[in-house]
Amino acid sequence: MRQAAVLGAGTMGNGIAHVFAQFGWGVTLIDVSQQVLDKARATIQANLERQVKKGAIPADQPPAILGRISIATRLEAAAPASLVIEAASENPTLKFTLFESLDRLCGPDVILASNTSSISITEIAARTRRPDKVIGMHFMNPPPVMQLVEVIRGHATSAATAQRVLEIARELGKIPVEVQDYPGFVANRILMPMINEAMYVVMEGVASVESADTVMKLGMSHPLGPLALADFIGLDVCLAILEVMHKGLGDPKYRPCPLLRKMVAAGHLGRKSGRGFYEYNKS
Ligand code: NAD
Repeated sequence: MRQAAVLGAGTMGNGIAHVFAQFGWGVTLIDVSQQVLDKARATIQANLERQVKKGAIPADQPPAILGRISIATRLEAAAPASLVIEAASENPTLKFTLFESLDRLCGPDVILASNTSSISITEIAARTRRPDKVIGMHFMNPPPVMQLVEVIRGHATSAATAQRVLEIARELGKIPVEVQDYPGFVANRILMPMINEAMYVVMEGVASVESADTVMKLGMSHPLGPLALADFIGLDVCLAILEVMHKGLGDPKYRPCPLLRKMVAAGHLGRKSGRGFYEYNKS
């Protein structure tokens, strides 16, 4: 059985582990928090049951899929994997340290992928002795449902590594799109300025949260309004991405909205904290 390690079991990590296990991979899901790992397992189980109800997978599959996922709190558990997907918090220093450690722990042929939304793959790769085998594998939220995987080639990523990751993404039933390594890549370079502008609209009193979202849903046929989407992504993640783009591209148009900063400071992070632009039942 092919073995993957997924680092970080938050919003994205549990979904990425789910996808790999669904397509036959053994997965070690690693997080520093046992509580997050327990919650991730429960989330995967609930999402598998939903897939059964929708007819997306056979009813007898969930136990086997869950059985292929093991959980761990120590990074060393990533050592036997042939592919690592890092989905830890969107913090450059954390990712640099994690990749330095992974480079020491994993065999020299192992591909080290990051699910980062915006942090430079080139800079992450430069922390390792295998920059040719470091790549961005950017799943969309929620990974079991969304078809796209943005595959980001760092400056030193080899063609062979890119080819292998494109192939793996296709084997996981996804549609990969290859892009180059600039802050925000493509998905967030286009999405985040829209979300940020919706926040300015609310902050300036141009429209209420509901009105801004309704305009974009009904006027632009977006399935979700930008503020509901921001809550879904996590407001801390949105702020981190905008900061990387603001710093990396140097253009004031990426300046994070002060209302976003204030909400993150207040701990109103969206769905995951129970409150963001909307309120959620935390259960
Ligand atoms: P999250 O805050 O929900 O989860 C991050 C997890 O990483 C937490 O559970 C935390 O405990 C864990 N973590 C922190 N330090 C760790 C370490 N040293 N080792 C292992 N785990 C550690 O964040 P998320 O939304 O799942 O985002 C994860 C990554 O995916 C980020 O890079 C983010 O930019 C990217 N991403 C997020 C979305 C989204 O919609 N939220 C979409 C695509 C990509």
